[in-house]
Amino acid sequence: MQNFDVNKIRQDFPILSKMVNGKTLVYFDNAATTQKPLPVIEKLIHYYTNLNSNVHRGVHYLSEAVSKEYEDTRKLIQNFIYARSPNEIIFTRGTTESINLVASSYGRTNIKEGDEVLITHMEHHSNIVPWQLLCEEKGAKLKVVPITDDGELMLSEYDKLINEKTKFVSVVHISNSLGTVNPIKKIIEKAHRYNIPVLVDAAQSIQHSNINVQELDCDFLAFSGHKIYGPTGIGILYGKKELLEKMPPYQGGGDMILSVTFEKTLFNTIPYKFEAGTPHIAGVLGLSEAIKYIQEIGIENIASYESEVLKYATEAISEIKEVKIIGTAKEKSSILSFVIDGIHPHDIGTFLDRDGVAIRTGHHCTEPIMRRFNVPATSRASFAFYNLKEEVDVFVKSLRNVIKLFS
Ligand code: PMP
Repeated sequence: MQNFDVNKIRQDFPILSKMVNGKTLVYFDNAATTQKPLPVIEKLIHYYTNLNSNVHRGVHYLSEAVSKEYEDTRKLIQNFIYARSPNEIIFTRGTTESINLVASSYGRTNIKEGDEVLITHMEHHSNIVPWQLLCEEKGAKLKVVPITDDGELMLSEYDKLINEKTKFVSVVHISNSLGTVNPIKKIIEKAHRYNIPVLVDAAQSIQHSNINVQELDCDFLAFSGHKIYGPTGIGILYGKKELLEKMPPYQGGGDMILSVTFEKTLFNTIPYKFEAGTPHIAGVLGLSEAIKYIQEIGIENIASYESEVLKYATEAISEIKEVKIIGTAKEKSSILSFVIDGIHPHDIGTFLDRDGVAIRTGHHCTEPIMRRFNVPATSRASFAFYNLKEEVDVFVKSLRNVIKLFS
């Protein structure tokens, strides 16, 4: 790995040297949200100190300056995910809003009674509920691709489920509770054979892998800023221009219009048609710094270091006979979910917290997966490129102590 110095990187994340319960914080809850590097934090201060004003609305210095940075960020994201045009990049509140936008705008226009929407058993609630609401409203059916005991998609079942009634496929790239990396290129190719558009939920993949929307040929892609080292409350929806142009607005309000009379409103062009109201300007500027920061480190360096940490942690907890890993797919990324017979995940999480180790416990907004594996909840450690193997050692030692305590 060229120029990858984890100790130097850690100095950019002030929170990582925080003491929690008398111990140095070990932050293994990166799938829930990532920590922010100094350039992101400083940008937020800079914005509110020097630039604060509304975008697209003023002719004065501040408004013009901030509007430029706002639109430059759109271009940065366009290049980051290799979209054809900045107009294909829509600022939203996050993955959840991006998916709701598509389900509501594309879905309501194109899905009719008797149609089918295809998702998978490993979706986050954000990629289940919006489709469920749509299907209920339209009298359409939600179909679900099953998964194996290792937490891999059953592609042969996908082949069987997809048919002329299928009108949309929405699929997660990397599962937030199993860590499975799905073969989305294959999934997209198959759907396109039937002319079915595909949305990729990239909430857990944008921070770990190189995403090229043109190469994938996905029709929509959604991700959240806060999972890629940027602020909360800001996210992205990528959509192919020809689809976005045909879709009706998602919300009405300022900025999304060309002209309004009481009789009729003419809508703005994309992407503004989908950005009603004052946006999260600070969030956009902060996200821009986050993306520049990870580009500087290199997403390939990040992916390769994180897979080393995942391998190290997987091997270490596999040596504990009481631990059962949930999610053992061949292709995994940065997420280690597990259960221990006789100890509730919440107890594991609480005891680990006493040692300063932050993991997540619960259903991770994927209740169908918990039911599939017949567990009420799991404990989940999730890694980022600023984590250390030494931190994995602290986590494993703490886990062994919890087991001792309960036995
Ligand atoms: N999809 C996946 C796979 C996720 O992990 C998450 C966040 N846990 C979401 C969607 C929703 O993201 P957000 O809450 O940022 O909208």
